Amino acid sequence: MQGSTLLRNRLPYWNLLFLALVLSGGVFFWHTERQQHDLNQIDHQLLSTAQHITFFKEKLSSGFPAQDSLCGNLPELSALSPLAPSIVVSSAQGETLCFTGNDPMPHAKEDYSGQDISIETTAGAQGPLRTLIYPVIKAGTPSLYLVVTKDLSAHKKAMRAATLLLFVSGIIILTFFAILQRKFRGCRLAAIKQLTLLMDQTNTEIRPSTFQIADTATPEVTELASSYNQMMTRRANNLRRAKQFTADVTHELRTPLTILRGETELALRNGRDREQLRQVLVSNLEEISRMSYLIEDLLLLSKGDLGEIPLKMERQNLNELIIELHHQAQLLATAKNIKVELHCPENQITLQADSLRLRQVFLNLLTNAIKYTPDNGSVTLSLTINDKDVAITISDTGIGMDSDHLEAIFERFYRVDKTGNRNDGGSGLGLAIVKWIVDAHQGSVTVSSTHGEGSQFTVLLPRAQETASA
Ligand code: ADP
Repeated sequence: MQGSTLLRNRLPYWNLLFLALVLSGGVFFWHTERQQHDLNQIDHQLLSTAQHITFFKEKLSSGFPAQDSLCGNLPELSALSPLAPSIVVSSAQGETLCFTGNDPMPHAKEDYSGQDISIETTAGAQGPLRTLIYPVIKAGTPSLYLVVTKDLSAHKKAMRAATLLLFVSGIIILTFFAILQRKFRGCRLAAIKQLTLLMDQTNTEIRPSTFQIADTATPEVTELASSYNQMMTRRANNLRRAKQFTADVTHELRTPLTILRGETELALRNGRDREQLRQVLVSNLEEISRMSYLIEDLLLLSKGDLGEIPLKMERQNLNELIIELHHQAQLLATAKNIKVELHCPENQITLQADSLRLRQVFLNLLTNAIKYTPDNGSVTLSLTINDKDVAITISDTGIGMDSDHLEAIFERFYRVDKTGNRNDGGSGLGLAIVKWIVDAHQGSVTVSSTHGEGSQFTVLLPRAQETASA
């Protein structure tokens, strides 16, 4: 991936841009506020200077014409103001009577003859000027005008220097921030880089390793790493199961094929009579049907995994099905003299189910119960109605199982007795098929068993909306 398009490379630039915008906004705000504040203060001082002078004029003017008393004391009066403004005293007609400094400050008095105080900023030769025109009212009309002017060029320079200083500081802060971010980004992304490397290796490694989460990792990295670890554990389990499955399938198919081959070769090598050849053919047929069943079961499971077996869901009277299965189980159990009991309530239970598949579930369980129960034992088939579901229980007084087998019993090819007699027909797929069908009906199947005492399989199936009462 191009470095420039990587999110980790683009994010810091956005951060920097955001910080630059915030800093520029801050400087602009400060500059505007400060300028307004200073101008207000200058205006206030210009006004108080004018008021001050007028106040003294009142005191001094006794016996003198007003302008004489004012002009005579103007330098002293001007020196009292902290701003040291330049002052011009004008007559009402606009004639300059006296002023401070060497030259009178240029002003716009000529255009002004109002009775109100006027204040404005004008452009001077050196820079901007702030001028206050203060009319001295006598008998209701302005007799004199005090023009108090402050040169703002020094203030402007100071403001410019301060703003420049702030901008330089901003640039230093931005540079510092960029360096810091680059440094810390490297530290923060180290864990992600490590994780990426590990994920890349996962493609090639058969046994993937999990990611060690450091104490210093950020919560995002911890979350990502633990999701990765969980995924890896699931993947490892699936891989293990798939390998086991392939090994089991190979084994299950190889055994009957070896027998077929051996017997056929033997029959061909030693010239046998007709009866011996017939026996070989019968035995071969048995192996072939065993393989066919196995392949059928495998096909059913793999199609089921792929969702390629559509269930034909219909309303199904469970009582009728159970009674029919009980009858079949009795026939199967006759050879071992096993008693098959039935506990079925009179209430008619209706289910939404695929009747063929459901039959397969209970036949598998009943066949197992009979298969793993010694002669003269007993098997019980019972139906219990609950509020939301029905429970079909198949219990036997057979060989039972240790509790450590119960968790794996529904896995494909799992058999408690791995060396069991091949002639019992078991391939370890029966219960896997049971589980798949029950799951597809939104039900569940559980097992409880005690070694040497017997087992009990319970299938829970959701009830259809209406249940017809007998
Ligand atoms: P199998 O075709 O070998 O019976 P299943 O998937 O039906 O395959 O059963 C898996 C294993 O579970 C069996 O090999 C057997 O060891 C054990 N099992 C199943 N049902 C019973 C039972 N009723 N009593 C004791 N063991 C059982």
